[in-house]
This record gives sequence, C-alpha cells and structure tokens, in this order.
Amino acid sequence: MPKNSLQTDAIRAGSHPSQFHEHSEALYLTSSFTYNSAAEAAAVFIGEKEGYIYSRFSNPTVTAMQERLAAIEGAEACVATASGMSAILATVMAHLSAGDHILASSSLFGSTISLFNNILKRFGITVSYVAPADRAGWEKAVRPETRMIFVETPSNPLTEIIDLEHVSSVSKKHGLLFVVDNCFCSPAVQRPLKMGADLVLHSATKYLDGQGRVLGGAVAGSKLLIEPVYAFLRTAGPSISPFNAWVILKGMETLKIRMDAHAINALLLAQWLSDHPRINRVYYPGLASHPQHELAMRQQSNGGGIVAFEVKGGREGAWKVIDACELISITGNLGDVKSTITHPASTTHARISPQEREAAGIKEGLVRISVGLESIEDLKSDLARGL
Ligand SMILES: *Cc1c(COP(=O)(O)O)cnc(C)c1O
Repeated sequence: MPKNSLQTDAIRAGSHPSQFHEHSEALYLTSSFTYNSAAEAAAVFIGEKEGYIYSRFSNPTVTAMQERLAAIEGAEACVATASGMSAILATVMAHLSAGDHILASSSLFGSTISLFNNILKRFGITVSYVAPADRAGWEKAVRPETRMIFVETPSNPLTEIIDLEHVSSVSKKHGLLFVVDNCFCSPAVQRPLKMGADLVLHSATKYLDGQGRVLGGAVAGSKLLIEPVYAFLRTAGPSISPFNAWVILKGMETLKIRMDAHAINALLLAQWLSDHPRINRVYYPGLASHPQHELAMRQQSNGGGIVAFEVKGGREGAWKVIDACELISITGNLGDVKSTITHPASTTHARISPQEREAAGIKEGLVRISVGLESIEDLKSDLARGL
C-alpha cells in the first residue's frame, strides 16, 4: 500500500470489511468469539492461528481503531484503553517497577498529577517535576533511578510548550522512556514520535472522538514498547468497549478538518481576547505574543483549539464570565465541536493542593476555553456579556 497522507489515513486506515463488504466499518458488540473445533480454539489460544478470543484481549472494532490511530500518529503499533487515564496507568504499570522514578512536567492534567502523587507513591514509584519552560532543568533533575520522562505539550491549561527534540535528547542520553500525552493537539496538529518521543498517549475522549460522546484512550509507539502495555491491559482489564472504539474510529474521519477549523476559531478568539481591557493575559500558542510561539509553530501545524485567559478580579471575575455564558457549555471536557468553558482552579485542578496549584501556575482568575466550531461572532458575544 502506498503511504497516504494523514487526512486519507484518518478516513481509510484500519478498514477491513467482513464477508458482507460493508462500506462503513462494522461494530462488533460481542464479549467473546467461537471456534469450529476444540483444535481450532487451542490453536488460537496459544497464538498458532490468528483469531479473536475475548473482547478484553482484542476485538475487530477495537483493532480497526488502533490501526487507524497508529497510521495517523505515525506509530508501528497502538493499543486502545478504556480512558485517557487508563492509558497513562497502563503505560506506567507496563514499563515501571517499585523503586523507579518519573521525571514529569509540572504542568500536567490534574488527574495525572493525582495519579502520580497519590497512587503511584504507594507502589514505590516516585515522581519529581520540572517546569515546562525550564530547558536546562530536565538534565539536572535526572536521577540514577529515573526511568521515564512524562510531558504534555501544549500543557493544560496554560499552553506551555515543551521542546520535544531537546527533552528527547536528554531522555536518549540517559536511556529513559520519553512519553508524551498528545491529547491537546491530536496527531492532526502534532506528531511527537517524529520528534523523538518513545510513546504517545491519548485521551481519545477529547479530539479523536470530537463530539464529547464517549471515553477512550490509547498508547502508540514501537511494537517492542507497546507489547508490555498490551500485556498489562489484557490481564488487568481497562480495555476499551467496542462501542466506544467504533465511535472514536468514526470520529477520526473528520479529525483533520475539525482540527483546522478549531485552530482558526481559537486564533480569532485569542486575538479578540488579547485586546480586551478586562483581561490580563491570554495563553494561546498560535498568538505571536505567546512566549514560545516559534517553538510551537515548529512542533505543531497550528495553535490547536485550547485558549486560556486570566480575567481581572480573581476567582470572582472568572466565575462572572463563566456564569454569563448562554452558549458556551460549563464543563471540564474539551476537544468537542461544542465550545466549553471551565475554571481550572476550582474544577480540573481542584483536587491538588493550593501549593501544587500555585507551583503549576494555575491562578484564581484563569479561565480555559476549548474553542468549538460554532460561529466566532456568537462565541465573542457570549463572552462579551460576562466581561
Ligand atoms: C482528559 C485528559 C486526560 C484523561 O483522559 P480521560 O479520557 O478523561 O481519562 C489525560 N490527559 C489530558 C491532557 C487530558 O486532557
């Protein structure tokens, strides 16, 4: 097969019609699969013959989703998981042991920080943090027991950019596993494996689905690194439902066109917010005023769809803007065609301590918008009311 562009692969890759020659990929809602004989079952179970056994292990709809995502992420292999968090957990469980250390960006999704600080700690895995913009900090923070570097770029919610090639060089020098949560960009905007990442993680709940319908996650990378993640999943069980995999599979078909449109709306909104007198600061990598704009444009094909801004008047000011929204939905989710608005300090980052929040730079006046595909004029009017 010729190598297709991402736009084509997002629509075509992973499609294997059954004997009915269906055009749209079928949904295989079945927990198990049957065999013609005991001998055939035995051959499939020991891997002598290809075939499906049980949907916790694998399922044709899930395989289609994995193949499509691997193609657009530029990965040799991919495994889908029940959610983005289970993709992170499976990666850690597959590759780390008690006594190991993770070096992570200090600006991470709130649940990722909770997982690292509150849960992994009980299993003897320690984590320390480096500020995303602290270029020299990565090398200095590597310890003898460090096994993994874990980052998100752009970060949530401050859209800080991590130089992937730089961190990858530190990771390679010390023989570490470099893991990138690519949820904020999706492969349509950024492909970390091409910039030195070893594994890419997704919350497919966000842009891959794109319409806020289902939970899902995925890990992509080389066969060698994906195999242990799959081994963990099939035994421990946070596998994706075939239904959710099917929704995400179909969602990916419009990923490229959606991401282009998200970025156009986000840039227009960020420019408008930058000129507003009630706003202290706008965070959007697509703005020339973003401190890491050039780096962002080297790594990404556009600025993405997430815009954050600091309203004057702290929490009260931020809540006023949010409460005045009639169109934009108040919800912590992102990556939806419907615009969503959230107050990170009291929602997505509420479970971490005020000190951790302060360290992550999440101010009380900060508002995050996942810019959807509604008319930009309607979005501006909605925000103008509270501002
Ligand atoms: C949402 C999100 C996750 C977690 O994904 P779920 O599907 O909600 O489990 C992880 N990382 C980032 C950056 C996210 O935005």
